[in-house]
Formats: sequence, structure tokens, C-alpha cells
Amino acid sequence: MSAAPRITGFDTYDIRFPTSGELDGSDAMNPDPDYSAAYVVLGTDAGDGAEGHGFAFTIGRGNDVQVAAIEALRHHVLGLRVDEVCADPGLVSRSLTGDSQLRWLGPEKGVTHMAVGAVVNAVWDLAARRAGKPLWKLLADADPEWLVSQVDFRYITDALTPDEALALLRAGREGRREREAVLLEHGYPAYTTSPGWLGYSDEKLARLAGEAVADGFTQIKLKVGADLADDIRRCRTARAAIGDGVRMAVDANQRWDVGEAIAWTRALAEFDPYWVEEPTSPDDVLGHAAVRAAVAPVKVATGEHVQNRIVFKQLLQAGAVDILQIDAARVGGVNENLAILLLAARFGVPVCPHAGGVGLCELVQHLSMFDYVALSGTTRDRVIEYVGHLHEHFLDPVVIRRGRYAAPAAPGFSAAMAPESIARYTFPHGEYWAARAAAAEEAPA
Ligand SMILES: [Mg+2]
Repeated sequence: MSAAPRITGFDTYDIRFPTSGELDGSDAMNPDPDYSAAYVVLGTDAGDGAEGHGFAFTIGRGNDVQVAAIEALRHHVLGLRVDEVCADPGLVSRSLTGDSQLRWLGPEKGVTHMAVGAVVNAVWDLAARRAGKPLWKLLADADPEWLVSQVDFRYITDALTPDEALALLRAGREGRREREAVLLEHGYPAYTTSPGWLGYSDEKLARLAGEAVADGFTQIKLKVGADLADDIRRCRTARAAIGDGVRMAVDANQRWDVGEAIAWTRALAEFDPYWVEEPTSPDDVLGHAAVRAAVAPVKVATGEHVQNRIVFKQLLQAGAVDILQIDAARVGGVNENLAILLLAARFGVPVCPHAGGVGLCELVQHLSMFDYVALSGTTRDRVIEYVGHLHEHFLDPVVIRRGRYAAPAAPGFSAAMAPESIARYTFPHGEYWAARAAAAEEAPA
């Protein structure tokens, strides 16, 4: 009898795409991002070829630091039994989060926590592939007791106990077969940020906003926060292009102090923004509560930079947000996002995930689809962000039809990037970056 298969590979890659050249992704705080992934592949000796892919998203410089943080977790994972890991990803999640030395660099925040998220998500990708299911379905089919066992309740039991989580998940199962059929037929609602990058001209904004509505989107989003006169003009342009029946959100990417956030949002209110996103620091729970109280009926949304379940808990406890924006690659992976989805369900706050970047749409769709089928049971006032960039580098890219995400069918977490893309865009020695460095050397000073 052969030995039980183990995790035998832990390969990391610093992958960077030159998006700053087109101002795709430009906003008030991040004018020239090069969308990047600190990427990890878990290999096994199982002989079935199944791998686990995961990554943290960054926007360029520092992606090497993120890769180094992932590398620092290698010893926790290499040699683990594949069957044990796939049966209980929470075991890996707890051992990574609890690393007694790395913990000092957090705890549970920043580069080290994002590294945990990358590895934990790779484990879930492996588990879903071996189960032969897309991740959303693996989660939706799972026993509520097992899902509860995957959540670390430390620091959140004052808002959500394991028994309360179990009750939510049991109630969420009622009618799940019908909802799964609806999901497979109609997909999950999306909104698009593609028209609204700050670096785009008014003409490009109007054209892309009109195209978004023609494509079936019922919500778009504009970046704001650099210059008020510009924002008023751009909001007017976008509102004229989409008409009154389409929702328009605005996103300040943390640009403002609390008072400024209130004044600026009020100044844009005549264009009927549906939500104002990241009005101020993602750490400022009470600041968000103050903004929310002052700008209603404009809703307040945040989450893409919220570092862990504890801050999400406080945002909910303080009544600081109307919309909660999970990110698949910011916190400690699927296990912590289960905790956050459960907290949102407990407080009755809609989750509208952050996506875009590199592969964030591919990942986070699975979490929302699970939530619809087997937890909150609704897509009302829920939309997943969609940005039309870089999907061509993924082996199982998202599919958008009439403004909705089609449910992925392939086993796994849709996380795997094409080997050619990894090779070409690895920094600094991949073909693309090497050619660019050579060209810069040849150019006259
Ligand atoms: Mg945002």
C-alpha cells in the first residue's frame, strides 16, 4: 500500500501586469497601479495532477514583500497529508494565523495576513478540485456543523456565537435546491466599475457608462475624491449617460477626513449616488458611523481594506455601514470570509463584494454564490463588482451575461492563471519585464 499523498510543492511567483500605462484602475489614492499577484501553487504527490492555486492582490511595488511573506509560511504546509488538509482547511488556517513568530507582524492584519489568505485560498482550491466541485457548490452542499467548524470565533462571540452561526446556516439551507437552480439559470447580479476610473476622459466615461447600461448592468461606479469640481462634472456626465433608473455608486478610496467626506458626499447628492465607498480610513469605525449618520439616504460602503473579521464586527456593531464589501484576498482566506458573511447575515447587512484587481472577480463570485444558495438566501440589493481587465490570464475566467456573473462549473476556486501568463509577467525576469528593461537601457538618457 502506498503512503497517503502529501503536499510536496510550494511554488511562489511575483506576477505584475503593466496596467499603469492605460490608467486602468486609477483612483484618487492610487493614480498609477500595476495590478499584481503574489501567487502560490501547492503541489501534491497524489498522482491526480490536482494543485491548489492562491494569491494576494497588490498594485505593484511591494509585491516582492508579499511573496516573501507567503514564503515564510512554507513550513506550515509542506508535508501535510492532502486528505486531512482537504477535509479540514480550518486546521491549516489556524496554524498559519497562529504562527508564534510571524504573528508579531500582525496580528491578523497587513502583509502577513494577506499571505495567510493566499495560502488558505490555495488549500480551498485544492479541496474543491479534489471534490470535483466549484468552490461555491462545495460550500453550499456542506453540512452546517462542518461550516461552523471552519470559522474561528475568537474575538467575535460577543456579536456571533457558534450556535447562532449554526442556526443561520440551518435556516439558509431551506430552499437551497430551488435557489441553486435559479443561480445556474440566471447567474448573480454584477455592477461595473470599468467606466469610472479617475484617469479617463469625460468622453470615455460617457461612452463606457452608456455601454454598461446597454450590456445589462443596473449599477455602475465612479471614482471620486481628487477634485470636487471634476467630480460634479463627471457625476453629471455619467448620470446623463445612464438615466435615472440605473444605480450609480461613488468610491473615494479613503481620500477624505470625516468632515470632508460628509461635505463632499452632500455636494454630490443631487446626482443620487447609491453608495459612497471608502469615504475615509478603513480603520475608522466611528468615523464611518458619523459619515453614515450625516449623508443618509446615501449609503455607506466599505470593506476592501478592512483587515479582519474583528473590524468588520465593529463596523456592524456600530451601525457604521449599509453595505459590507468583502474581498477574497484581503483577509485570511475563505475561513475568515465565512465568519464575515455570517456576521453580515446576523446583522442583516447586504454584502456587495469588492473585485477587479487581478483575479478578484474570479475568486469572490464563489463566496457570494454560496451566500445566496445556502446562507442569506437572497440577491436583493446585492451585487458583485465587475471590472473587465486581466481575465484572459485565468484558465477559468468569469463569464458575464446581461450584467450577471454566470455560476462557474469547473472544479476549484477559479484561481489558476495560465502558465504562459505567469512566465511572461513574472517580475523582473519574465519576458515582458525583461524586454521593457532592455528597451529602457537602449533609450537615450
Ligand atoms: Mg473601492
